[in-house]
Amino acid sequence: MKNITVLIKPASALCNLRCSYCFYANVSSLREVRSFGKMKEKVTEKMIENIYADLEDGDQLTLAFQGGEPTMAGLNYFRKVTQLVDQQQKQIQVHYAIQTNGTMINENWCAFLKKHDFLVGLSIDGLPLYHDLHRVDPKGKGSFHRVLQTKQLFDQYEIDYNVLCVLTNPLAKEGKKVFHFLKEQQIKFVQFIPCLDDLDAKKKSSYALTPKRFAGFYRQLFPLWLEQLKKGNYISIKLFDDLINLLVRKEITACGILGNCQVQYVIEADGSVYPCDFYVLDEYRMGYIQENTLKELFEKEITFDFVCKKPNLPKKCGNCPFIKVCGGGCKRMKNAVYVDSSGQYCGYQDFLRYFIPRIQEILQLISSKIV
Ligand code: SF4
Ligand code: SF4
Repeated sequence: MKNITVLIKPASALCNLRCSYCFYANVSSLREVRSFGKMKEKVTEKMIENIYADLEDGDQLTLAFQGGEPTMAGLNYFRKVTQLVDQQQKQIQVHYAIQTNGTMINENWCAFLKKHDFLVGLSIDGLPLYHDLHRVDPKGKGSFHRVLQTKQLFDQYEIDYNVLCVLTNPLAKEGKKVFHFLKEQQIKFVQFIPCLDDLDAKKKSSYALTPKRFAGFYRQLFPLWLEQLKKGNYISIKLFDDLINLLVRKEITACGILGNCQVQYVIEADGSVYPCDFYVLDEYRMGYIQENTLKELFEKEITFDFVCKKPNLPKKCGNCPFIKVCGGGCKRMKNAVYVDSSGQYCGYQDFLRYFIPRIQEILQLISSKIV
């Protein structure tokens, strides 16, 4: 049984916000065509046809929409996609997901997302001050209050969502405050996304995360999280879940967690397909979904090269006790999470040293309090 996920960018790099750290604005600026605009109906139809081509009854498919800001494609675009999916003859279990900045969501959107059981990733950078520092509209106005209204709508409509929080270097000092915010807002699922420097950055920006701050943040968070767990309140923090899945259940639930790239099938609005959201660049284009099935794209040499050509690991990895459960990590995150520029310190290693000895306690708590 296959379980396929594709990431679709129906509005390419279009966005109504101008977040200062937006990695996709940087990536798209390095292409010949910065934005491919909105996905046309013909491309959408052909995309669904070719995604389905290799699927068989019983397979699972996740269509995950992201951007830029995917809601800029308009609600009718999403209605069309669900109609096309419903018209397919094969018995495929389809899951929908969308990542949004939340600023354009209204009750019509909520009714639609609920009806089709979308899992939503809603971007909130923890604290109002930090959120509004970066997540601003074209006039420089912060978006925190608008996004919080959307969160309340999601609660009202009982829409499943997780909070996506970009972990900037300044925010990473505030683990305690961030955790307090999660508790106060009764947020049950959160993913912290390391804030990265631009791909072509000449020097480190003030907001890009450093490995030291990465480890410091999670070390601050962990005891507070454990305290809640002891009270039977499980707050799902993606990194903790991924590590438990990997180390206990032997399941891989995050790309790069063992140091290997996986093909992500990122589909841009013009139908071009790329192996990873961090590398939606002309030189990594695998082909076009209008012309190829996923299997054909997977078998291309360019895909093989992306997945198999690995950068040399830093010296520090050579004698690291965690090399087998890390493998040097995700190549795009190396400067934010792993071995720093001194070559002497690794943020992930630091955190694993802290986390791994505590896993048994976590498991006991999970089985006694939750299950
Ligand atoms: S660069 Fe990172 S996120 Fe992209 S495919 Fe490789 S491991 Fe995954
Ligand atoms: S934890 Fe750090 S030092 Fe160890 S293998 Fe991973 S990246 Fe290398």
